[in-house]
Amino acid sequence: RQEQYRKLRDVPPVTADGVEIGLHMNAGLLLDLPHVAETGAASIGLFRTELLFMVASRFPRIEQQTALYRSVLDAVGDRPVTFRTLDIGGDKVLPYMARPDEPNPALGWRAIRIGLDRPGLLRSQLRALLRAGGGRAMRIMFPMIASAAEFDAAKAMVGRELDGMARHGHPVPSDLKLGAMVEVPSLLWEMDAMARRADFLSVGSNDLMQYLFAVDRDNKRVATRFDPLSPAMLRALRTIAEAGHRYGIPVTLCGEFGGKPIGALALVALGFRNLSMSASSLGPVKAMLLGLDAADAAAYVGDLLASEDGAASLRPALTAYAERH
Ligand code: PEP
Ligand code: MG
Repeated sequence: RQEQYRKLRDVPPVTADGVEIGLHMNAGLLLDLPHVAETGAASIGLFRTELLFMVASRFPRIEQQTALYRSVLDAVGDRPVTFRTLDIGGDKVLPYMARPDEPNPALGWRAIRIGLDRPGLLRSQLRALLRAGGGRAMRIMFPMIASAAEFDAAKAMVGRELDGMARHGHPVPSDLKLGAMVEVPSLLWEMDAMARRADFLSVGSNDLMQYLFAVDRDNKRVATRFDPLSPAMLRALRTIAEAGHRYGIPVTLCGEFGGKPIGALALVALGFRNLSMSASSLGPVKAMLLGLDAADAAAYVGDLLASEDGAASLRPALTAYAERH
């Protein structure tokens, strides 16, 4: 199997009916980076910067952060990197930062909420990222955005950093794209506003599932109670994909769901054209895509979602469909 996937490295990810799918890799540590070339991923679709902070013994200074981000960019050459700003709090704790005592950490002070409330932290990260990206193309996205207003506030911070850099003669990125993670369900009802503001969107299906169904993603008692292949989740995902098409902005999905062949099948059927996943998922997903008729799958999933037969999950139907084809 592994050998077979390795052979697919240079095969373009195009479905049997000619639909091109962007396959990207998730990363978060420097030792993930060699896998980009090994797997033939088009880019790093999600770089989880918090991992660099979690393995440090103190909050990294701007110069250290800049050097780290630069080494990420250098390691992948011409391929783009989408850096996600610090996604701490909830399940991700920095040993050197006081943790607030919260009854519901997943619903608490985390990710962009900390970034906006303690602007010094996010500002230092943005400064380091923008310095590292000086003269090159760069993408930055914000985690746990719950409203268009939060995205505006984060974007304004980037704008102030860029102004400061220009004033001091620092080279700014030659092409900067700013995006948001779609992982808090409130954004589903701000899709138009988000698609007008953001250069791209990236669905965090792990958290979107958690918040859509009110199931703790790390609590084994409930984590498997609902299926991402449920009609509710698939309709939510379709809403996001459709907004991207309406406004002509790229929409990626970077949660674990996209790294499962059956999940990727459903996502392509719903209109997703970019998926970002762990290195080990790229081969199996590409192998599935090469045999997929995207238009036929779209019609099939469309019919299933229109039927409202009350099925908790479309997994049995989709598995049978995948086996037939
Ligand atoms: C997600 O929520 O799906 C995601 C990609 O981010 P993380 O797993 O780091 O929360
Ligand atoms: Mg998330």
